[in-house]
Amino acid sequence: MDRLCEYIAPVWAQQLGNIPKQRIQLANVPTPIHEWLLPGIPNDFHVSIKRDDMTGSTLLGSKVRKLEFQMADCLAQGSKHVVTYGSLHSNHCRVVATCARELGLQPHLFFRTDVEDPYTIGCEGNLLIDRLCSAKFYLAPKKSPYLTCLKPRMDKLAKHISSETGERCYIIPLISANIIDFWGYIHLFDELVMQGALEQFDDVIVAIASGMTAFGLAIGNFLTGSKLRIHGMSMCDDTYHFHYPNCQKILDTLGLNVRAEDILDIIDGHKGRGYDISTQEELDYIVSVASSTGIMLDPVYTGKAAIGLQRELNNNQDMFKGNRILFLHTGGVFGLYDGRMNDTLKGKRSSTDQIFGWKNLEDFPSQS
Ligand SMILES: *Cc1c(COP(=O)(O)O)cnc(C)c1O
Repeated sequence: MDRLCEYIAPVWAQQLGNIPKQRIQLANVPTPIHEWLLPGIPNDFHVSIKRDDMTGSTLLGSKVRKLEFQMADCLAQGSKHVVTYGSLHSNHCRVVATCARELGLQPHLFFRTDVEDPYTIGCEGNLLIDRLCSAKFYLAPKKSPYLTCLKPRMDKLAKHISSETGERCYIIPLISANIIDFWGYIHLFDELVMQGALEQFDDVIVAIASGMTAFGLAIGNFLTGSKLRIHGMSMCDDTYHFHYPNCQKILDTLGLNVRAEDILDIIDGHKGRGYDISTQEELDYIVSVASSTGIMLDPVYTGKAAIGLQRELNNNQDMFKGNRILFLHTGGVFGLYDGRMNDTLKGKRSSTDQIFGWKNLEDFPSQS
């Protein structure tokens, strides 16, 4: 199986300095783009969706795109282990665990969590996949700072493994120092170019955590001279202190003479009660979107981004460049399997209006 291939950057990105030499194909791309009748949208707007929730079965979501470059680098170095970190229900950790196993490597996952005791770690959501992959788990306090706590521990583990087994470890941080991960999203922008999205849409909406996906799109948009407007909807705290400086750092590393705020619009105000915490309104909207359009949004990112888009389209129309909107579905659907939807669904789909038992086999609901 040789999925490792030479990477040739798009013509418009060839001026950049740090082009990776290799890429490994992990994602099923190009992902489809289609019309999406998102509930609650004003009539004069047309929303479409790009289905990065279809990049794979368990390798689903936009995060697989950066791993195509990081895992190529990992294999090129001859590593046999992959070490990374995230929250307990991290989509990133789940894709790392899955693709590590696809490539014959051992995954090691550091989790930032309030759970201290290994025996109380469950099998819900992404954790089920992590466990199926026999990833090794290392628990660290939720507030552990990266530089002074997580990074030294990951380095120490890598050293330990190497001295015990003689095998190399590859460490994947949130953002790679050589920004090799960023190329996954340059590749994504190129896919949009190939799909004709630059002519078909005015605005692109994407949920932001590290910001890497949005930065890649914004920088691709800038380099191609495209007239799309890229909006990143922030799902964590400290949007302006965090995202623009990080994007600026990447621009500076790449030697691009432009300000982050001129190429990326950041929308705040839709993270609800905070990162990874859901409100009832958000959960209800996820149900409404699923039952009216068949699209499963996730509770941590895309659900909040979609409800945020719906609010902005109603209340803040000047923010949009035009009326043809493309929403990037970045994945994350295993977040729906962590139990948080249960009360909402059981409440709505009660035994008297949606579920008919044996005793009621001859009764059918009124279809009005
Ligand atoms: C990680 C993630 C995001 C955010 O992507 P960044 O590149 O970190 O900003 C959005 N949606 C989903 C489903 C994710 O897992």
